[in-house]
Amino acid sequence: MNRCLPTRWTSSSIRRVHGMKEVTIASVFEASRRIYPTVRHTPLLDSEYFTSLLYAERIAFKAEMFQETGSFKERGAANRILSLSDEQKERGVITFSTGNHGRAVASVASRNNIKAVVCVSKRVPSYRVEAMKALGAEVVQDGDSQDEAELIYERLKKERNLIPVVPFDDPYVVSGQGTISLELYQQLEGLDTLIVPLSGGGLLAGTAFTIKQLKPSVQVIGVSIECSPVMLRSVEEGKPVQIAESDTLADSLLGGIGMENHYTLDLVSRFVDTHVVVNEEETATAMRALYQNMGLVVEGAGSVPLAAALSGKLDLKGKHAALVCTGRNVDFNQYRRVIEE
Ligand SMILES: *Cc1c(COP(=O)(O)O)cnc(C)c1O
Repeated sequence: MNRCLPTRWTSSSIRRVHGMKEVTIASVFEASRRIYPTVRHTPLLDSEYFTSLLYAERIAFKAEMFQETGSFKERGAANRILSLSDEQKERGVITFSTGNHGRAVASVASRNNIKAVVCVSKRVPSYRVEAMKALGAEVVQDGDSQDEAELIYERLKKERNLIPVVPFDDPYVVSGQGTISLELYQQLEGLDTLIVPLSGGGLLAGTAFTIKQLKPSVQVIGVSIECSPVMLRSVEEGKPVQIAESDTLADSLLGGIGMENHYTLDLVSRFVDTHVVVNEEETATAMRALYQNMGLVVEGAGSVPLAAALSGKLDLKGKHAALVCTGRNVDFNQYRRVIEE
C-alpha cells in the first residue's frame, strides 16, 4: 500500500486516532494497516464495452463483490472489530443490518473467535439470515423495518452488555470503507470520476473523504434509489429525515440514516459533488448489463452506479471513471427473473 503515497496533506490533518472521534486521512491509513489480509484488495475491472458505449476514456468497476462475504462491508466491520480491546472482544459484539453488514460482522467476529449478535427486521430475506447463521452469529429477526430492528438492537445491547458495531455512522466503519479509495488511487491512474451507491452513507462518506484528500479534483457522485433516497433528502434538508421502506431490487440500500446521525450526513454533505437517483427499471437494466457484458453477478445495490451511467443521467464522455460494484448477495430466484427479462 505504500507505493506512491501522496504528499499533499499537511501534518495538521494527521492526528492520533486513539478513541477515534472523527474521520481523518490518518484514520483511513490506520484502517488499511489493520484490515488486510482479513479483507481483500479487490480487482479493478476495465470494460472496453462500457467505455465505448459511454464515450468515456476509461470505465472500470471496483469489484467489491469479491470480498469473502460478498460485499465491501467487511472493510468497516473489520476495522471496528479488530480495533477492540481484549476485554471488549471477550464481551462480544452486536449489530443491526439489512444483511451485508450483519454477514460481514458475523464473518469477522467468527474468524476472531468473538461472539456476534445480529438484529434484522422481518423484511430481510431468509437467504441473508441463513448466511449469517451459517457463520455462527445469533440472529434476532423482529420488527417491520430496519429502524424497528435498531430499537431491538438498542435493548439487547444494554441487556447483554455487548459492544456495538454499527453499519455506517461510525468513524472506524467510515475509515474502513475509505480504504477502497486508497486502492483506487493506486489502481486507476487519471481517475477523475468516482461513482458510489448511497444508503446510510458509510461507503460514500469514506470513499469521498479519502479520494478528496488524495486527489481533490476527482468528482464524487452518490447514487440513491428512487424509493428510498433518505440521505439525499437529508442533505437537502440539512438534517436527518425518514422515509417509509418499500420493496426494491436494491434492498441493501434500504434503511434510514439514523435521526441522530453524527458522521455520514456531515461528510456526505461536505465531500460529495453530485447526486443521482435511479429507479427499479434502470437498476434491472444495469444488473443485466453487468451479467451479459462482464459476466458479473452484482446485486441491485451494487449496480446503481452503472444504472446512473446508462440512464443518461450522468455524462461520462471523456472521463476516467471508477464505479463501485458493492456486492453480489442476490436472491437467486429474483436475480434469474431480472436476467431473463
Ligand atoms: C451497505 C451497502 C451499500 C450502501 O452502503 P452505505 O454505507 O449504507 O451507504 C451499497 N451496496 C451494498 C451491496 C451494501 O451492502
